[in-house]
Amino acid sequence: MTCELVFVGTELLLGDILNTNAQYLSRQLAALGISVLHQSVVGDNPERLRAVLETAFSRADTVLTTGGLGPTKDDLTKEVCAGLFQKKLILHEESLRRMRAYFAVKGIEMPQTNEKQAWMPEGAVIFENANGTAPGCAMEKDGKRLLMLPGPPREMKAMFERSALPYLQQFSDGMIRSREIRTFGIGESSMAQAVSDLLDRENPTVAPYAKSGEAMLRVTAKAKTEAETEALLDPVVQEIEQRLGGYIYGVDVPNIETAVVRELLRRNISVATAESATAGLVAKRLTDVPGASAVFGCGIVSYQNHIKEKLLGVDPQVLETDSAVCETVAVQMAQGAKRQSGADLAVSVTGLAGPGKDDRGRDPGLAYLALTDGTRTLTRTVCTGQTGPDCRDFNRTVFSSQALDLIRCYLRDFGDTASPAVKDCDA
Ligand code: ATP
Ligand code: MG
Repeated sequence: MTCELVFVGTELLLGDILNTNAQYLSRQLAALGISVLHQSVVGDNPERLRAVLETAFSRADTVLTTGGLGPTKDDLTKEVCAGLFQKKLILHEESLRRMRAYFAVKGIEMPQTNEKQAWMPEGAVIFENANGTAPGCAMEKDGKRLLMLPGPPREMKAMFERSALPYLQQFSDGMIRSREIRTFGIGESSMAQAVSDLLDRENPTVAPYAKSGEAMLRVTAKAKTEAETEALLDPVVQEIEQRLGGYIYGVDVPNIETAVVRELLRRNISVATAESATAGLVAKRLTDVPGASAVFGCGIVSYQNHIKEKLLGVDPQVLETDSAVCETVAVQMAQGAKRQSGADLAVSVTGLAGPGKDDRGRDPGLAYLALTDGTRTLTRTVCTGQTGPDCRDFNRTVFSSQALDLIRCYLRDFGDTASPAVKDCDA
């Protein structure tokens, strides 16, 4: 199967919204082993949409569209696609019933204009919309297939996973499965060097890539069945795990915060944060993970020196002589957060996010981190090397990742001996 993607929406052309559907669908189709040859973006204009579709079908047998299934006049995708495949639009009663029920749950009567969304191409396979009103569909003619999905990503993704993916799988001649091995603390090139002989493999393939200061490896196998892909993947993933050892924070985990929170939950160890340069980003990332409240005590965002002194007990003398960005302040911030929260662990960040230098002439990208369990204290100095005008976001992200990694390394090295403090309810 050869496939093209067509994204419909004038706001995409104007740059008002980012085409995140493109990234999502491209990844999903690649994982299915379906080659995507081209992607196009076209405004809400019927002639231009039709022309784009004709071009796409001159090269590929399958086209997926997103957008333009809404109730308003500028939503024309279904009309244009049905015209191209010479199908009539007919009222799909079941979709109409579902849409009425969708509005009824909210206690509103369905506006008349929405009825348009239930008119579907004759003979199409209808995709139910679990998160909105517009159904999607797939239609076929003369060996060509056209799938229409709604524009809003939440609706599109749910529909793709529930309906479009099983529909497409019927036409795929094998399956592709990958595992993503995520590391922290090793650069992309060092990681690639450690597994260089594996990078020439054919099935599974091993590919390195880097994102937001992290290095990852994707291992991808193609076979007829799920069991065969797993059998191909297992030994290679195990080999990589042996070689990269403690750098790996997880396989197929979405991010480092998820790996950290899962481990905190497993060990019943709680954590608190004291943050300067990252202004709560470490706390935010920890609490992005569902269930984090069981192990996250509190986060203290302390910017000005008098707050560091008052809330965290940082020594004013040290602030005066060594500035707020130094290892001693990081340690005292962590100690203060542990004291204030009663959590088992506290982690701190103090640093220079940028873009300017500090009053001592130091470049941004520098941060000091500390973690304490009351007995042991770990520290880390980070230097991202990013000093340009747009470095602020990047530096903060890296500082927060480093703080999360400090927790991960503590749990890896001392987790077995860490004793969760006696909790109120235990006393
Ligand atoms: P609606 O019923 O909301 O009108 P629709 O299927 O007609 O849905 P559009 O009108 O094209 O979809 O887009 C609706 C919204 O969905 C856009 O304003 C945008 O926020 C989001 N959206 C659309 N296409 C994309 C895309 N390719 N990537 C990311 N977001 C998108
Ligand atoms: Mg719309």
